[in-house]
Amino acid sequence: MVTIAERLRSAYQRLATAAEKSPHNFPVRLLAVSKTKPAELIQAAYDFGQRSFGESYVQEAIDKIRHFANTPDIEWHFIGPIQSNKSRPIAEHFHWVQSVDREKIAKRLNEQRPASLPPLQVLIQVNISADPAKSGCMPEDIAPLAKLISNCAQLNLRGLMTITEQTDDEAKQLYYFQQMRACFDTLRAQYPEVDTLSMGMSGDLETAVAGGSTMVRIGTDIFGQRQ
Ligand SMILES: *Cc1c(COP(=O)(O)O)cnc(C)c1O
Repeated sequence: MVTIAERLRSAYQRLATAAEKSPHNFPVRLLAVSKTKPAELIQAAYDFGQRSFGESYVQEAIDKIRHFANTPDIEWHFIGPIQSNKSRPIAEHFHWVQSVDREKIAKRLNEQRPASLPPLQVLIQVNISADPAKSGCMPEDIAPLAKLISNCAQLNLRGLMTITEQTDDEAKQLYYFQQMRACFDTLRAQYPEVDTLSMGMSGDLETAVAGGSTMVRIGTDIFGQRQ
């Protein structure tokens, strides 16, 4: 049987190979997407050395975060769509939120983030392929949303996230990733703390890295297929 450690090792190898070929010269982080997967598998990944995990479903995630409450250095990223009535537990339990796509959610997360905790690290989700089935703001919404977030004491703007359309057309995908990279470079010029462009999943890691990703979100390749 292939273990989580072996799968993680090959995911990091795949990432290193992609990064070597990339015209962009900076480290790319790997977020292990553990949604729907049990705590034992997260523990196995942690034992291998993985520290950052992505979750999409609030209640399931909170149960896991509680389970690992005494585990040092573990970092939780919320990557799913945010309903405004579910923003409080996200604000209270996560370190990062990658899926902020509207002002209302940013304001709520800021108000609900406990003052005893460090600011939430925030990415703006962009629907770069204008896919009606996906959340995310349009590129022209980035600037006003970034301005609002940068004025929120309990939020720390770190960059952008996107989920692109699943397509076999690699050139089209690369084009979307490059458009995201251009939005990211524009944002970074204005906000010095911006350092994260989250894009690329199990199916499109290489193209995303070639397009300038600084964080890939890998689920299936590490933890296996989801039900
Ligand atoms: C589920 C999910 C992933 C992981 O996708 P895989 O194809 O399993 O690697 C990445 N990003 C987001 C936002 C997700 O919801």
